[in-house]
Amino acid sequence: MSDLMISWVTSANSDHTQFPLNNLPYGVFSVGDAAPRCGVAIGKMILDVAALENAGVLSFEGTLQTASWNAFMALGQDAWARLRRDLTKLLEEGSSQQSALEPHLVAMADAQLHMPFVVAEFTDFYAGKHHATNVGTMFRGAENALPPNWLHIPIGYNGRASSVVVSGTDIVRPHGQLKSPNDDVPRFAPSARFDIELEMGAIVGQPSNGPITVMDAFANIFGYVLLNDWSARDIQAWEYQPLGPFQAKATATTISPWIVTAAALEPFRTSTTEREKPLLPYLQEPGPMLYDIELEVGLTPDRGEESIIARTNYTEMYYSAPQQLAHHTTSGCPMRVGDLIGSGTISGPQKDNRGSLLELSWGGKEPFELSDGTSRSFIEDGDTLTLRGAANGDGYRIGFGSCSGRVLPARK
Ligand code: MN
Repeated sequence: MSDLMISWVTSANSDHTQFPLNNLPYGVFSVGDAAPRCGVAIGKMILDVAALENAGVLSFEGTLQTASWNAFMALGQDAWARLRRDLTKLLEEGSSQQSALEPHLVAMADAQLHMPFVVAEFTDFYAGKHHATNVGTMFRGAENALPPNWLHIPIGYNGRASSVVVSGTDIVRPHGQLKSPNDDVPRFAPSARFDIELEMGAIVGQPSNGPITVMDAFANIFGYVLLNDWSARDIQAWEYQPLGPFQAKATATTISPWIVTAAALEPFRTSTTEREKPLLPYLQEPGPMLYDIELEVGLTPDRGEESIIARTNYTEMYYSAPQQLAHHTTSGCPMRVGDLIGSGTISGPQKDNRGSLLELSWGGKEPFELSDGTSRSFIEDGDTLTLRGAANGDGYRIGFGSCSGRVLPARK
């Protein structure tokens, strides 16, 4: 494991910043009324790489002067490595470029963060075994908890790119068709069981047209974000058979504002858990392709203080993102630059490792307590839900920024 790399941006040189020189995550920011542009987080600052390319300090075919990272991603792996090398040189302690760069640093506190990339398409998986077992037990009973295909195939569904929003965006509680087992007929009403799903999102940075291997899938993933797949459990329970979730998952999906590159996460690679059934050859991992990323969920009631309601780790996934991406292409399904792949809810073995309120409150049967003494089964209006994540190295951490959203009352 490498050490903290030292930068002349002094706020980047601490063991608690999310954005040391080791990280260099990519985002899109604006200050005041200025147009959004590409930036790189370093300590408490954002480096305006759009201005640096305009000034000739960086040279990436003009791709850094757009308001998303898609064009840069499309340049491919050599460009990805070259930008990281260039930025590391420019920002490291003793760089001859310090005085040229200083005018292009913006305080993160003064900036507004936007969607870091245009989501081409969004696919969400269901690859956490503890989550699948918990939800299956609640929906179908303990005997039928894990579907017979689950240990052989990464289960997923095609979501909506249009519903993906950046952290800080308010979420309006959805209406939908609801029918509890005791009702004779469904009714149309605001969801009373609105929920989160703590996930990681993998971003596809290179296109493919036809089946690709797990190794190629690993190479094509540009980076990762935190992802909250907002879910209306009462809508889901009524609609999900036989084609899976639809309107229950179409309200919004929130992502964190910084793309943490696969390169920055390289020291934290780890293998998926031991296979309970052998996987078909096309799904087998040629090496460790998952990452050790500590995750937590905070719930802040309206005008209240935050309670941390869950802590878990990305290592709980049964399938890695490259396995999911490779599986996604088996049909010949083309993948595009900017495709977003949700991991599935990341729950661990213990009660406080559960990545959804559905699991934390066991379907509402066991409400859990917040630090202010109130309790929750599902999200209440005014609650803010925040995901955080970091890979923890020796004396440094690779953070993602927060992935946060406040739930507003349903429209009248
Ligand atoms: Mn999900």
